[in-house]
This record gives sequence, structure tokens and C-alpha cells, in this order.
Amino acid sequence: MKDFTVACYRELLETLLDTGYTFFTTEQYAHAMQKDNHLPADKVVVLRHDVDLKPENSLTTATLEHTLGINATYYFRIVKESNRPDIINRIAALGHEIGYHYEDLTLANGDISKAYLSFQSNLEYFRRFYPVSTICMHGSPRSPYDSKDIWRTYDYHALGIIAEPYFDIDFAHCFYLTDTGRCWDGYRVSVRDKIPTYQDQWSAAGLSFHSTHDIIRAAKSGKLPKKLMITTHPQRWTDNNRLWWKEMISQNLKNIVKRIMILLR
Ligand SMILES: [Zn+2]
Repeated sequence: MKDFTVACYRELLETLLDTGYTFFTTEQYAHAMQKDNHLPADKVVVLRHDVDLKPENSLTTATLEHTLGINATYYFRIVKESNRPDIINRIAALGHEIGYHYEDLTLANGDISKAYLSFQSNLEYFRRFYPVSTICMHGSPRSPYDSKDIWRTYDYHALGIIAEPYFDIDFAHCFYLTDTGRCWDGYRVSVRDKIPTYQDQWSAAGLSFHSTHDIIRAAKSGKLPKKLMITTHPQRWTDNNRLWWKEMISQNLKNIVKRIMILLR
């Protein structure tokens, strides 16, 4: 089966369900950890989606997850490529968590206090759809600014935010998988979406997967860790043949550019 199709994504979810994983949204996970510092399940997947582009693809995955009885977190950006009120409403109505995928420091050209004001008003905007309590940084690989830097000066807890995965998930106990770069080992070419210290430990332990099929095989053979966070970008996943090839070719070109950028840093 071709990778990065909706059919392949379904197979991944079904395999995780069949092998005993329970799915959590970021919010559910943060609540459980806050309450008694442990999860009410032995095998756990925190399922997160960054809606960078093509929000209609997120509606497809959200609908699929709903039919499988799975709740996930969808992080939307404020920009028009992501922010589609009709789709946000429909995904929330399917029982999923809505969060804010913020990039305010980039939008404010590095001005921290301006970025914080814009963050607050954008958070209020997303709270019209869902009582947003978790947020997640958008990586903006071409921007010189890291939007997480707002939190060197300000505290998101003061705004009723209980979790930002980059700060509040303890990756010592939670293995991280992301489809950044349209593969599952793209941390090699990613500027910001990676977990610094643990990534090396995971790779050394053989926990490095290239294709979705590799993850499915690991889950079936019991080699996948018991606790993981999976991040996907639904814009990459499609059953449409023409769009599939377009995404595959453009992402491979982007990966080459990213490798060069990292070499030049
Ligand atoms: Zn993003």
C-alpha cells in the first residue's frame, strides 16, 4: 500500500487500536498527568495534528478518527491557509480538541510584546470554537524567529493554557513521532520540530522509523514504546493520485533545501 494515503493512515490507527493503545488528546493527557501523574491506560498515544495547510484534509482525518472512536487534537493556525471557521466547527463537533498553532513572534517580526498581544487576541478568537486549553508552536522553518521564545518573557499558564507539548510533555517517558518532512525520521532535516536530547537516545535504541509501514510493523511486533505522541500534518495525506505525487515530489525537494540550510547554519 502507498504511504501517506488516508487508507494507510487508517491502517496505522487500526493497528494501534488492535495492539491495545488508548488514544488521548493533548488536553486529556495533560489533565491526567496533572491529576495523579499517571495515565489510566498502559499503552497510550497522544494524537496531535498540526493544520499547517489544506484544512479540508484535516476534516477527512477527523471524520475517519471519529468513526474509529478516536479523539485527537487539531492545532489551527490563524492564517487563512489553515483558519477555516466552518471546518474548525465541524472538527470540534466530531468530539476532537481544538488548539492554537501559534506563530505570533514570526507574524510580529520578532517583537515579543507585540507577539504576546497578538497571541492573546488569536487565542480569544479560537476560544469561540472550543475552550482552548492547549497550544503548540508552528515551526516556520523559513523564519529567523522561534515563536516559543515569547515564553521566555510571558507565561501561558496565566491565560488558562495547561499544556504546550514542547514544554509540558515529558519526553523521557513519551516517544515522539512526527511526519515532518513526509517521513517519520525527518528530524534529521527539521530545524525546530524535534526533541533535542532524547532523539539521539531513541535513534541509538533503534527507535527510528522511515515509513508508516515501519511503525505498523513495530507496533505489531511489540517494539513500539508504550507511550508515544504522534504528530501528523494532514495536508500530506491524500488518496488523490495527482495530489499524492505533487506532495511527494515537492516535499522531497524541500527536504533537500532544508539539508542545505542546516549545512549552512
Ligand atoms: Zn506547523
